[in-house]
Amino acid sequence: MNTNISIKDQLNDSHDHDLCIEEAIQNAELICKKKGLRFTKIRKKVLELIWVSHKPLGAYDVLDALRSEGLKAEPPTVYRALGFLIEAELVHRLDSLNAFIGCIDPSNSHQGQFLICLDCRSVTELGDDDILKLVQSKASNMGFSAIHQMLEIQGRCKSCRALK
Ligand SMILES: [Zn+2]
Ligand SMILES: [Zn+2]
Ligand SMILES: [Zn+2]
Repeated sequence: MNTNISIKDQLNDSHDHDLCIEEAIQNAELICKKKGLRFTKIRKKVLELIWVSHKPLGAYDVLDALRSEGLKAEPPTVYRALGFLIEAELVHRLDSLNAFIGCIDPSNSHQGQFLICLDCRSVTELGDDDILKLVQSKASNMGFSAIHQMLEIQGRCKSCRALK
């Protein structure tokens, strides 16, 4: 999968989001199979809910959505499913928003930069290896070994800027 195409599609408002959801679920099924993980019904449902849009969802948004579909769910169920999806590298947790977003390229490294729009809350994943490597080398200059990088960048997205 080509990340650049995905990012372009994501920025394009008129994209067919059903295809995003379909691809995300297909990717998840493949990855779980490859890693020998069980992609249970609830895990799949939670992933689908997270992929409802390119906006991050909080754990309680997921819980509400499950309940509104008539499913009996309690917070621990949701947290366990989210924990699984993060571990399986299918979902990212955005600490600054305390919310979760589907990974656009789970076959790649599970770290990178996230562009978060302060107006519409949409999130775009910018998996730029050059930035990763730069941070790694700057850290290593200070004797620090960088293991995981999640860079959350807040600002205004292209479509919100066009409205102004
Ligand atoms: Zn989409
Ligand atoms: Zn990702
Ligand atoms: Zn926006």
